[in-house]
Amino acid sequence: MLDIFTIMVMSLLLCGLMAGLLWLSARTFPPNERESLYIWITALIMQPIGWTLFMIRGTSTDLLLTFGANLFLILSFAELTRALRRFIDLPERRLPMVLLATLTAAAMGLVARFVGNFSMLVIMNAAAIGIILAFMLVSVLQGRRKKPSMPLNIVAVVAATGVVVAILRSIVHLDSPQYDGNFLSASTTDSIAVIYASLSPIVASIAFLLLYQERNSHRLEELASTDGLTRILNRHAMTRQAARHFHSSNSTGTSCTLLIDLDHFKRVNDHYGHEAGDQVLIEVVRRVQDRLRPEDIFGRVGGEEFAVLLPHTTPDQAESVAERIRTSIEAEPVSHDPSDISVTASIGIACRLPTDNEWADCLRRADKAMYRAKALGRNQVVVDGLTNHSEPASSAPGLS
Ligand code: GH3
Ligand code: MG
Ligand code: MG
Repeated sequence: MLDIFTIMVMSLLLCGLMAGLLWLSARTFPPNERESLYIWITALIMQPIGWTLFMIRGTSTDLLLTFGANLFLILSFAELTRALRRFIDLPERRLPMVLLATLTAAAMGLVARFVGNFSMLVIMNAAAIGIILAFMLVSVLQGRRKKPSMPLNIVAVVAATGVVVAILRSIVHLDSPQYDGNFLSASTTDSIAVIYASLSPIVASIAFLLLYQERNSHRLEELASTDGLTRILNRHAMTRQAARHFHSSNSTGTSCTLLIDLDHFKRVNDHYGHEAGDQVLIEVVRRVQDRLRPEDIFGRVGGEEFAVLLPHTTPDQAESVAERIRTSIEAEPVSHDPSDISVTASIGIACRLPTDNEWADCLRRADKAMYRAKALGRNQVVVDGLTNHSEPASSAPGLS
């Protein structure tokens, strides 16, 4: 038989240590994202307070101690759930959970003082914690639907186990009620419940910390692969994604690459200023994006150069996409005060050949085609391997 007193003391120490660890880790996350971690830490601190009150209470039937001990314990699970819901971005539902914890604890205090039925206390406690853990489980499942994650699976297992423990414990006490028992002389089912109640916050806390780490590394990865100005893939990420696609679809004729270069862009900067140039780049990206499919890979590969990998696209289809992009850039000047800015683009296209070992080979040919478009007068589309081009430059690009 396990010594429940020792388990409680261990839980007290572990929760304290865990709360300290989480508090130190909180500093490594952005300030605006720390709130759910702080709620979690507060909830963790409530656990040892609850256990201490249980230990002080011992075998007594004191109303206030029973109320306090159960309030802290049930509220702790409620706050862990709230922290999780906040992290997942779900409505917190704090009030119903606090009400459930307070009313249950108050009723338990009255039962302890005036009825003296231990099994009734156990069932009340198990029901409240079971409901809160079921709510935690539902919240985690909602979170997993948004984004699957291993730490969320761990929390789901912790919550589901808690629900099962609460149900089993209630069944045992319904089956053979005890009138004068207490926590410190508990039966096997009660011991399991106490072990669960003391260990589950620790396991869930480790999972919660892993959740934070997971989100953080995802953010960092996003930051490292996004172009700061246009928010599309930067050169490094574009190359990586395109290369991955290139190797995963191991056949020729399955993809085409566009290289888009703005014409005389230096003049835009010289005439309107660098900030206006930035606005033009953002607007051009928006127009290109509007003409792409979700599976297309689009990135900024140079200052005013963009690449698009069009998977499952024939040269003819690629040419018409490029033409639509070119027209969308040329068609309407970019709004700017005091005068709008006209800009055009030259686009080179290269479709995958059997001799292309890497995406870089394709990009190189697209680059050559783009330079041919420049040489032919800019503001046009040139397909690698073809001598004709879609649109002769009708008007001088840039500022002219
Ligand atoms: P071409 O038609 O031959 O491509 O001429 P160009 O002026 O577009 O080409 P060039 O390579 O001479 O100049 C590119 C210009 O793009 C120079 C640089 O100031 C500008 N540029 C590069 N990155 C940025 C950026 O992030 N913001 C702004 N505003 N301008 C940029
Ligand atoms: Mg240019
Ligand atoms: Mg350029």
